[in-house]
Amino acid sequence: MSNFKSSFSAELRPQVLEHIKEWSSCNKCSLHKTRHKGCLFRGHIFSKTNIVIIGEAPGDTEDTIGQPFVGKSGQLLQDILNETYEEIIECDLDYKIPFIYTITNTVACIPKTDNKVRPPSKNEMTQCLSRVVDILVLCSPQLVITLGKVAHSQLKNYTKQYLQHSTQPAFDHLHLDHPATMLRKSDDAIELYKLRSMSQIIAKLNTIYS
Ligand code: SF4
Repeated sequence: MSNFKSSFSAELRPQVLEHIKEWSSCNKCSLHKTRHKGCLFRGHIFSKTNIVIIGEAPGDTEDTIGQPFVGKSGQLLQDILNETYEEIIECDLDYKIPFIYTITNTVACIPKTDNKVRPPSKNEMTQCLSRVVDILVLCSPQLVITLGKVAHSQLKNYTKQYLQHSTQPAFDHLHLDHPATMLRKSDDAIELYKLRSMSQIIAKLNTIYS
């Protein structure tokens, strides 16, 4: 589980702790009634965090542990991120590509109806939007990666709110398929997905940092 550790920098610590307190007791939408643990973010919130990854919503494993992307699809995402990082440090480039990321979802609490996990509603994502924007403002990323159509549908809102609340320029964007959509596919299809995602991330980072 060491891959799933989170940290934040000393200079941002008071702000992050304040936000965690606020987000952890949030009851802005009805999802607070069904969550066991809010899944706020995992990864690194530094002023130099250059990538923020946004998925759809926590599942049962995440709800139990209290972190986003720690179930099967989280492991697949983590494999992609680890291998992308290794590829980047092995590249002999005349510019440096940082690879510090944090991961979250459009909503921090598991969306469930009649005990069945479902996609988050538009209203739930709207209620949770300020939490995602807070993470973006803390990180000032160069790149936002949305995973799946649901997260992608919120991109315009995130960008608009981010630009209203941050002094930093707009982030670049990359859209990837959600890893959960790959879990029932063949090993070959999963491998192809990993390779395709890695090469898309590296190509995008190259365009940003070259
Ligand atoms: S999903 Fe977001 S807005 Fe809704 S209760 Fe959880 S933290 Fe609050």
